Amino acid sequence: MAEKKKFQAIKGTRDLLPPDTELWNRVEQTAREVFGTFGFGEIRPPIFEPTELFARSIGMDTDVVGKEMYSFEDRDETSVSLRPEATASVCRAYIEHGMHAWPQPVKLYYTGPMFRRERPQKGRYRQFYQIGAEVLEMVPPNQDPAKNIGKDAAVDAEVIEMVMAFFARSGLEGVELAINSIGDRQCRPKYVELLRAELMKVKDKLGPDSQRRILTNPLRVLDSKLESEQGIIAGLPRISDHLCANCAAQYAELKRQLGMRGVPYAENWRLVRGLDYYMRTTFEITARGLGSQNAVCGGGRYDGLVELLGGPPTKGIGFAIGEDRLILSLEEAGKGGAALGRDVFVAWMGEQAQGAAILAAQKLRASGFRVELPPVEQKFGKALGQADKLGARYALILGDDEIRTGQWTVKTLASGEQAKMSEAEFLEMSRKGKRLSS
Ligand code: AMP
Repeated sequence: MAEKKKFQAIKGTRDLLPPDTELWNRVEQTAREVFGTFGFGEIRPPIFEPTELFARSIGMDTDVVGKEMYSFEDRDETSVSLRPEATASVCRAYIEHGMHAWPQPVKLYYTGPMFRRERPQKGRYRQFYQIGAEVLEMVPPNQDPAKNIGKDAAVDAEVIEMVMAFFARSGLEGVELAINSIGDRQCRPKYVELLRAELMKVKDKLGPDSQRRILTNPLRVLDSKLESEQGIIAGLPRISDHLCANCAAQYAELKRQLGMRGVPYAENWRLVRGLDYYMRTTFEITARGLGSQNAVCGGGRYDGLVELLGGPPTKGIGFAIGEDRLILSLEEAGKGGAALGRDVFVAWMGEQAQGAAILAAQKLRASGFRVELPPVEQKFGKALGQADKLGARYALILGDDEIRTGQWTVKTLASGEQAKMSEAEFLEMSRKGKRLSS
């Protein structure tokens, strides 16, 4: 006989199970509601895309594209990849569906799994879930970029306000927002060169990752968590001292706009994003109870990305929330989902009773109650034991007597009380006692 093989979920992936999935659903529902109040509609892009889409948008030199993507050759020999993030897909969809002709700006949100081959640890998985949103707006021809600085800052601030409102509604604790500006195509290249030159001077004191990044992506050195590099990084030039006039004005306005909206923030000059396409506004939100992987949301402005992917000149700002981490933090704070439970356990006995039990279950379920109907007849004691284990509120006892008289026997499991009543009376009673959480 062949040896029995035991299958396991692939490293870095996991099954989300009840009752935990209750909390996942609640969080996603809250996102839908909050984002809806800000005028966002849902987009559901595909899980896989041409590899080139990610290479072009996220950047070849980033860790995500360079070493973390799950790519494979399709049968027609094109390279496709499981999406490591969704912004590129949203921009592709904006172009593909001619969304520049929709009323601008176009405000979209998404939820779903992303895939990155990272080293798994608490809060870091290879299949993880993001809830994100993007605001895209085509730039009319001949628009003076300086004129729109105030408008862009207000859009950025509203997007940040929306994430913070969502976190507040979700009950997330210890939320801290950090913001930065990383300049634009005018001023950033000059700053990056300056940074590179300064880093070259201290190259020998840096670890291998940072040494490599001096050439590929010097901004990412600022992101380093290596203890031995902290002193060196503290002495590096800061981009805030090298922003061009437009970027500086936009950053100042962003801070004013956040103030008007009552959104508290801290500035962090070392906050750069791992993906190439960001410019000006960048932000990150951390939460309590997550250890070293404490970032629950990252976002920023990416004007020009749509154009880079072949579309019209378009502005963009967006964010992605790490749903796994959000859930972890809520669970650590004791806000996890309760066990599924049941409102009614239908304990039926006798051939005739099954028909009546099925009808009763149908009516109760149609009224929104969670009902457990055993598929086979059970002895009274066993039925009540099971009802208890499932956390049922009521046991509805249906036997020959009940069928004959039309009076149901209802046991309230918490108190042990038992009473006879008609179907209508029971519906009325359980409706009043119905759990509000359902
Ligand atoms: P990013 O798309 O890299 O800007 O990430 C946005 C957010 O997604 C982060 O702040 C994390 O909360 C979450 N995230 C990114 N990568 C992972 C991962 N491998 N596992 C779990 N969450 C992740």
